[in-house]
Amino acid sequence: MREAEAREVLIEYCRSLYDKGYVPGIDGNVSVRVDGGKALITPAGVCKGAVAEEELALLSLSGEHISGNKPSSETPMHLAALRTDNNVGAVIHAHSPNIGAFALAGKPIDTRCAPFAYIHLGIAQEVPYITPGSREFHDAVEKALKERAHALLLFGHGSLVMGRDIGEAFNKLDLFEAYAGMLLRAQLLGGAKTLTNEELKQVKGG
Ligand SMILES: [Zn+2]
Repeated sequence: MREAEAREVLIEYCRSLYDKGYVPGIDGNVSVRVDGGKALITPAGVCKGAVAEEELALLSLSGEHISGNKPSSETPMHLAALRTDNNVGAVIHAHSPNIGAFALAGKPIDTRCAPFAYIHLGIAQEVPYITPGSREFHDAVEKALKERAHALLLFGHGSLVMGRDIGEAFNKLDLFEAYAGMLLRAQLLGGAKTLTNEELKQVKGG
């Protein structure tokens, strides 16, 4: 995506993420791949509901700061996602309430309980708790990304989702969050049932 357009859509989706309650306070960060091997990423310490286009940080995919504000401290995991898979055009890191509940309890989110979750999220890969922003944390995220996971559950922290574009990444997070809410409610009714391997096979078209 060209830089000017990327700035516009990034801001638009930052507002939606904030309005949905997925990035409360100054939390969360969002990045978009820009033509020519660069990335636009939200700046450190700024509310996504109020971030301005000129505050966005422009970086090379290897991490050199080109322009804009100081980028988020979680930039390395975004750049790792963009470098690992050329089909990834956008990355969202969120602290949303339902996924957050699983993350803080250290419980996996089993996407095999509903066909839509299994199809659109794949298996939600878990990343153990490691200090956010540390080298070890980014290495653990990169390892999970290499397994081709496009929805990560970061224990003690939140989530990381990838999409071909920002719209797809947003939809994936929206679904992931809603699904996590369904699993939580299902707990009141005795817990969600996992589909059988045969059922899952059919869902994926055999
Ligand atoms: Zn975070």
